[in-house]
Amino acid sequence: MSPQTIDVVYLVSAALFIFSLKWMSDPTTARNGVFAGVAAMVLAVAGTLLRPDITSYTWIAIAIVLGTAVGVPLSWVPLTAVPQRTALSHAFGGLAAGLVGIGKYYLFLHDGDLTAFRTGAIVFEVTFGLLTCTGSLVAAGKLQEVLPTRPVTYPGQNVVNFLLMGGAVAIGVALVWRPELTFLFPLLVLLALAFGVLLVLPIGGADMPTVISLLNSYAGLAAVAMGFVLENKLLIIAGALDGSSGLILSIMMCRAMNRSFTNVLFGAFGQVAAASGAVEQRSAKIATIEDAAQILENADRVVIVPGYGMAVAQAQHRVRDVFEHLTKKGIDVRFAIHPVAGRMPGHMNVLLAEAEIPYDQLAEMDDINPDMGQVDVCLVLGANDVVNPAARHDKTSPIFGMPIIDADKAHTVIAIKRSMNPGFAGIENELYFADNTLMLFGDAKAVMGDLARQLSGETH
Ligand code: NAP
Repeated sequence: MSPQTIDVVYLVSAALFIFSLKWMSDPTTARNGVFAGVAAMVLAVAGTLLRPDITSYTWIAIAIVLGTAVGVPLSWVPLTAVPQRTALSHAFGGLAAGLVGIGKYYLFLHDGDLTAFRTGAIVFEVTFGLLTCTGSLVAAGKLQEVLPTRPVTYPGQNVVNFLLMGGAVAIGVALVWRPELTFLFPLLVLLALAFGVLLVLPIGGADMPTVISLLNSYAGLAAVAMGFVLENKLLIIAGALDGSSGLILSIMMCRAMNRSFTNVLFGAFGQVAAASGAVEQRSAKIATIEDAAQILENADRVVIVPGYGMAVAQAQHRVRDVFEHLTKKGIDVRFAIHPVAGRMPGHMNVLLAEAEIPYDQLAEMDDINPDMGQVDVCLVLGANDVVNPAARHDKTSPIFGMPIIDADKAHTVIAIKRSMNPGFAGIENELYFADNTLMLFGDAKAVMGDLARQLSGETH
């Protein structure tokens, strides 16, 4: 294929990547966004494979077979394990960028083509690529609980990390300034690998999704540098989109948890969680399925707050059944979506969309909170931290300041979960002991199934 045709293919691909991101930001267009993203990637790969400067396809074929062998099983993981799967994808992406950078460094060196600009781009690519690789592996290990999820800390940790980072920057500058100091390059590789591990180890499991999204933006930056090294414009564009969207997502997640970036990266959040949570003995009121069905049937306005428990139980289809029964009875049912409910951004939206719950029944936290005082029943389904009122007033709570859905302001709260166990932050939830709260114990899917049957009258 001629270079001009490839440029056109790349241009269409770049436009599709941009539309893909735009469309994915709204549930009504998200599906088209996915198709546009896939089409963009197919065009990008096809355009690259048809470049006239490719002399042999042998290694490319081996890479495709290996990539498929790893990628297909990775796609089988359940939705609740998507954060660690995403971390693994970033690890592979970072490794690929790092290896390309290392390969290109020695090729340019051999051919006498190592300009200062190329060295600079390679230093950037290798540093960000390899730290993304090891950092993402540690993040995946923590999320999968094969590594300790608690922050692993030691005195002077931040100083050590800054020294490592300073060392990498100094070596990078030295390599650009004095290209003959080639012995420094392997040192840069080792520093980048070590920095990735040491950067993520002290961060608690609770902050891993934010860290993963930050590592995503690092992988994007590595891809931009790789685009300059390989002189591939599409890689620069796609890398920049990846880098900036990862950064924007991290910022949004930090806001939703009322945390700052520095606090996530250097704050060792998980440590505080253990200190809080010692609470005096209190008792909660317990409801039966029959009680819950009766309360719901007598309501005019119901808000369902889904959380991580709905995701693990895969209860979304039973939720739809309950939603339909209530709607048929003329009851207004809405879903309150907290930005960090579940274990990844958009987790609840994806599950509810899978169960074909109409988008317009979904309300974001800031939109629904002002109405919570007029809600008759708030059904808290496997959500815990995102409805914990301590976040509003208890300054000692590790989640103090995190915006929450004001479930406690509803006239009656029915909380469905299996026990009084805490959620992700590891702290007790005072909502469960409130006068207007009834606990309905059980697995989210089983309880919602029973509730649907009760509401349909099948059990009468
Ligand atoms: P949560 O605080 O983790 O609580 C989930 C609750 O679900 C648990 O208390 C658990 O209680 C219950 N549960 C578990 N399995 C269940 C089942 N099969 N049936 C019924 N209930 C079940 O969840 P959340 O309220 O959704 O809050 C999300 C947390 O993750 C927040 O702390 C947030 O900051 C954190 N986080 C989320 C993201 C993100 O992107 N979404 C990112 C970073 C951090 P039982 O064991 O008693 O059943």
